Amino acid sequence: MIKLATVSPCYNEEEVLEQSADRLTALFEDLIRQGKIAEDSLIVFVNDGSRDRTWEIITRLHARNPRIRGINLAHNVGHQNAIMAGMMTAKDWADAVITLDADLQDDYLTCIPQMVDDFMAGNDIVYGVKVSRKADPLLKRMSAQAFYHLQEKMGVNSIFNHADFRLLSRRALEMLSGYKERNLYLRSLIPLIGLRSTTVDDPISEREAGHSKYTLRKMLGLALDGITSFSVKPIYYVIYLGLVFLLISLGILAYVIHAFISHTEVAGWASLILSVWLVGGMLMVSIGAVGLYIGKIYEEVKQRPLYNISEILK
Ligand code: UDP
Ligand code: MG
Repeated sequence: MIKLATVSPCYNEEEVLEQSADRLTALFEDLIRQGKIAEDSLIVFVNDGSRDRTWEIITRLHARNPRIRGINLAHNVGHQNAIMAGMMTAKDWADAVITLDADLQDDYLTCIPQMVDDFMAGNDIVYGVKVSRKADPLLKRMSAQAFYHLQEKMGVNSIFNHADFRLLSRRALEMLSGYKERNLYLRSLIPLIGLRSTTVDDPISEREAGHSKYTLRKMLGLALDGITSFSVKPIYYVIYLGLVFLLISLGILAYVIHAFISHTEVAGWASLILSVWLVGGMLMVSIGAVGLYIGKIYEEVKQRPLYNISEILK
């Protein structure tokens, strides 16, 4: 029988946390009764530097129910790092870890038992894949699809419509701990592990309470890591762009020589000013793209810790 741990990152989740804990506990009791998971399976909440009563609630839940454990991070490090903190801690506590958001938007009731079955059938990784995104606003749905296609174009390994709802075996977690990168994008990093994996369908629903904790800035930051952490193709595009400009300049050179030989006068202001701004803009964008990668390297080489844990309730 498998000893399971769920890991949920929580950032300002006071509105849903208690409800989520109750719902997960009920499911766990069901699964224990069915003999699917071990008696001492765990529900782990990671407090990602919340500013509200989240940690207080986790402490209270833990006091009431020993199945619930808490990890308190010293400050807000974001969704991906908080998940990593939870997984790396919980891998010493369980045979397999399922990460899922604290708002329980995922169809945990059907997916968790399926993930456990798939694990028992010999899979080290089970990805939850959203089959309908009706709960997401239209703009988010469209931008997500566009992003998956962009990733594909850039040659990034990605599983369409998979967010961070997944099961990882202890073996997979051990291997994951060998990837030392700072700019984490787990959805594309975990497929690199390469162990046997499968997917389960996840019809996602609305948030029960509270609002999304993913600001536009956090989402854009994540998307950027989803490209730059896996592909240098954008730099190739910069090179292609440079080559196109070189070709155009050759055309202009031919034109100028022709004008010189045939003594034609060429009015210059409009074309000059346009070229200066066009080429200037292109150069800045290109240098920016290269600079972006240098910035990422800068972050990587410092090897700062992804998170600091200030307290563990176990
Ligand atoms: N979250 C986190 N740190 C952050 C932002 C979010 O740990 O800085 C958690 C949040 O508490 C939730 C999960 O990440 O459990 C996903 O966030 P949310 O549900 O708000 O995102 P959405 O479902 O709207 O994409
Ligand atoms: Mg959510």
